[in-house]
Amino acid sequence: MTNHLKIITDCILGLAVGDALGVPYEFMRRDQVEAAADLRHMKASSSFHEQPPGAWSDDTAMCLASMDSLTRCRGFDAEDTMAAFLDWYRNAAYSSTGVAFGVGGTVSRALSSALHGVPALSCGRRGFRDNGNGALMRIAPISLWCAFRELPRDEEVQLVSDAGAVTHAHEISKLGCLIYTDYLKELIRGASKEQAYSFICRERYSLRFTFSTVAVYDRILNGRLPELPRYKLAESGYVVNTLEAALWATLRTASYEEAVGESIRLGYDTDTLAAVTGSLCGVLYGSESIPEAWRDELLKRSYLESLCAEYAKLFS
Ligand SMILES: [Mg+2]
Repeated sequence: MTNHLKIITDCILGLAVGDALGVPYEFMRRDQVEAAADLRHMKASSSFHEQPPGAWSDDTAMCLASMDSLTRCRGFDAEDTMAAFLDWYRNAAYSSTGVAFGVGGTVSRALSSALHGVPALSCGRRGFRDNGNGALMRIAPISLWCAFRELPRDEEVQLVSDAGAVTHAHEISKLGCLIYTDYLKELIRGASKEQAYSFICRERYSLRFTFSTVAVYDRILNGRLPELPRYKLAESGYVVNTLEAALWATLRTASYEEAVGESIRLGYDTDTLAAVTGSLCGVLYGSESIPEAWRDELLKRSYLESLCAEYAKLFS
């Protein structure tokens, strides 16, 4: 296996396993998840989405759609990315069970704008309330592109912003996607999780984003995130809280299994928390470290791996 293929598979399989593991607990309160979560095996989902064990949701599906578009176009193409998202939304392409489930409000508004002929780069909403984690959860293939292509910084920032903006065009979401990308890139370069964290804390995001936007990430960028007590992490789908939780779970644990479990036990948006955490920890520890039961129980794993293999060919 080439190095590119291994890293892509570590990241995307890590994301999908986290997503599928978190799906049955989506929207449960933290105390309910703590009481109910049995993470030894993938569970069927009955309360919110009727899904069998091992089914991945919108997070993985939109991530695969984005990766497939990057492969097909040999780079980011906003219209083609949107077409792939619509193929998921309407035809359940990229799904694990033939059902497109889990779509969030801001994503669904962006997709319906696209269906009405709005250009893809103008579909993402720009309101403060549109800062859910729906771009962050699927940005990994773009982040991998940035890691492998080593673009000039201006181009890299523009790419991450545009790729996110297809559904989420507010600066807060764009910065969240960029911080995630920077952290993942450092891990890919071989940094430890602590070194990668120091890197993002030193990065001068205020040169590119307004002071007020950078300020909302202060609990991450102040360098003290790992010390934050658990009860201070919000139960929410806000992009800032999601990135806080994923980095916190990554920094406070020592394995993929522990990190993903910790993120699910934070409650509420469990599938996305575990997907984002899983994508980072897949790269950090290698997908071979993902518990075998989880890897085996993930639906359509060979399909997911074949999309990773196609994407990896661009870098060989
Ligand atoms: Mg989801």
